[in-house]
Parts: sequence; C-alpha cells; structure tokens
Amino acid sequence: MPEDECPFCAGREDRTPPEVLRLGNPWQVRVFPNLYPAFERQEVVVHAPDHVRSLAGLDRERLALVAEAWRLRREAEPDGYLHALVNEGREAGASREHTHSQLVWLDAAPHETQHRVERERWSVVAERDGLVLACPFASRLPFEAVVAPAEPRSGGFTDPMLPAALALLGDAVRRLRALDAEVPLNAWLHDSEDWHLELLPRRSALAGVELGAGVYVNAVPPEQAAELLREAG
Ligand SMILES: [Zn+2]
Ligand SMILES: [Zn+2]
Repeated sequence: MPEDECPFCAGREDRTPPEVLRLGNPWQVRVFPNLYPAFERQEVVVHAPDHVRSLAGLDRERLALVAEAWRLRREAEPDGYLHALVNEGREAGASREHTHSQLVWLDAAPHETQHRVERERWSVVAERDGLVLACPFASRLPFEAVVAPAEPRSGGFTDPMLPAALALLGDAVRRLRALDAEVPLNAWLHDSEDWHLELLPRRSALAGVELGAGVYVNAVPPEQAAELLREAG
C-alpha cells in the first residue's frame, strides 16, 4: 500500500477502528483493536504518526512510549497471557509497512514462551542499562538475537527495564539493517520468570525441513553473527 494511502499515518485515524489508547498530543503512539482479529482480543500499536517503516527508525523516547503502551494495555486487560510481537516486511507476515506491533491475548502462556535464557552460552553483542543483546547458542536462523536483563527478572510488561529493552531491540535492528538493508524480521516478548525479547531475521523462507522436522540449518553460527553485529554497531 503506497504511503499516501497508509491508514496508520496521522490524519487518517478515521480509517482504523476507534482507538483504545493514545499517547502524546498530538499523538505519538496509538492503539486500536485489529480489524480482522484471528484471536478473541487482538490490538494494533502504531509506533509513530509519520510513515516510519522499521523499529530501526524509532528513537529511544519513541520506543519508551511503545513500552508504555504495552504496559498500559496489559494493565487494562490483565487476564490471560499477552503476546506482544512485531512483524516487519511482507515475508515476515507484515500486512502494513508502517511500523507497528500487535498485542494478542491468549488464554494461557504457551509452553514456548516460558523457557529460561541460556546466558552462560550466548554470544554477547552489546551491554547497556543492565540489559544484554546477544546471539543465543541454539540459534535457529542466522542472526537470531535476544535482548534480556543481565540477571533473570519476571513480569516483562511492568518491568521498568522494558523501555530500555525496546531501545536495545531498536539498536539490534539498526545493526541488522547495516548488514542487510531490507531484512524482514519478527520480534516478540516472552513474558515469563525470565522475560526477554527475541529477534528473528527472516532472510530465508522456512521450508519443509525446518517446519516439518524441526531441523534448522543455520549457515551463520551465533559466534560469527555476534561478531558481525558488534562491528555493525
Ligand atoms: Zn503510514
Ligand atoms: Zn524466548
């Protein structure tokens, strides 16, 4: 969809469902229900009034507002497990190019979301504000990354470290795009006793081996990916 028709840009608020949250005046971040929900409750968080296409284009203050929106929506609808995710690029499932995240309420926490971060085996890219950006030991795809507090903490949505974590995620996306300008990606929060953000660049489409057998052929080992991301900073 061309930029001059984007319903997420400021001035076209009437083309989205009525919003449930607006931050800033004029608004900087706004939240409204998904027009075509696949789940019982699903919301869209628009990250900027102007047509920014990536988390990489958002500064620290803006990402703090995104974290604030996530927290306020979690507190407003505290039942169930809240899955917060970002898709960038059509190959990664994004239907709009204007940067946004989605909030999906699930009945219970999926098993996949409740694992611990293997800090003793990750490859560190950067450390800031008590948080670490790293490539996990068991990376499924090239340049898979995780942002986590240096020590495990619970309750990601209400943690005062979440704004800095999203800022570090934005930094990670900038590093990725320095290596590969238009890389599609998925990112999400795993909210658990050891909450963290995961970033999954989608440079190659998943195929039968990965999806069917659970075998991921990763051409770039995490140690090498971390080194390249360090240099791209
Ligand atoms: Zn737009
Ligand atoms: Zn995880």
